[in-house]
Amino acid sequence: MVDGLLQEAEKAGASDIHLHILADNAAIDFRLDGVLKRVRTLPVEEAKRWCGRLKYLAKLKTYQESLPQDGRIPKEACRTKTDIRVSCYPTVTGEKIVLRLFAPEVLRLEDLGYNSDLRTRLERFLRQPSGMLLLTGPAGSGKTTTIYACLQYLATAGGRHIITVEDPVEQIVPGITQTETNDTRGLTFAEAGKRLLRQDPQVLVIGEIRDPDTANLVARASLTGHLVISTLHAGSCVGVLDRMLEMSNDQYALTSGLSLIVNQRLLRRLCGKCQGTGCGECFNTGYHGRVPVAEWMALEEVQREALRRGNLATLKPGCTLATAAREAVASGLSNQAEAERVIGL
Ligand SMILES: [Zn+2]
Repeated sequence: MVDGLLQEAEKAGASDIHLHILADNAAIDFRLDGVLKRVRTLPVEEAKRWCGRLKYLAKLKTYQESLPQDGRIPKEACRTKTDIRVSCYPTVTGEKIVLRLFAPEVLRLEDLGYNSDLRTRLERFLRQPSGMLLLTGPAGSGKTTTIYACLQYLATAGGRHIITVEDPVEQIVPGITQTETNDTRGLTFAEAGKRLLRQDPQVLVIGEIRDPDTANLVARASLTGHLVISTLHAGSCVGVLDRMLEMSNDQYALTSGLSLIVNQRLLRRLCGKCQGTGCGECFNTGYHGRVPVAEWMALEEVQREALRRGNLATLKPGCTLATAAREAVASGLSNQAEAERVIGL
């Protein structure tokens, strides 16, 4: 039954499964297109056996219910297309297990759903010999999906040595060198980043910039003939500049190397079959899949000069989130309710 649940979630395209033991029963939710949907409730005793089975598959301590545990179920163990990451967490009513399902295949850049303006900008960036692309947006806004599509594009073009440091590696891309951070063994983004420069790379992907060391490292790498892609927590394109200026002490490298900033959100896409009224295909949600809306800022010499002078107020994005969301609603890809839910429009 547990294997069946995992396969059912995969078939539905869920990104996560939540199994929570509550006071009187237990609930199972799928995260579909970013939103939780209750799919089942079951008796507590039965749910406990399901938890045990999940922990066994992930090689965790099955008797441990009062401390958090993290693990991974290999795809062979539950006959799914990809591995599943497992997080067990104690709550006052009982255990809560959250399973993360990784996307089964890498999307192509042209299948991400960006408008042609941004797609052209991205492709132009990826053909450059050096420079830096920074992606921002809240968790679950598609940054990782975009990075994998970029990696696929670069690997297909060939001819360059591509190295990634990720937390965690979610998909294997043939033809590139991928490494996972390991905080307990001291392999942080900053440490791995420093070491990987000796591996003679031309393209670096650093999962996230969290500290000044990493910020300096990516800025310098982008100035010394490397193409760099990374992500950062910030609310807007200008917010990314603010944070990078705050963290990096090599402002010359930063202002010279940065090429493109993308700040994105995902709106749920109206179900193609029922156009939003709800059908079996979309679990009666009215939505199926998602469409990215993005604010982006390309940095040319004019913008670099303003940045060097610290004159951030004159820097305007090429497209704002509001404009991108209005376009998505007007073209019938999504609707006003989604624009309001996701970006408060
Ligand atoms: Zn539908």
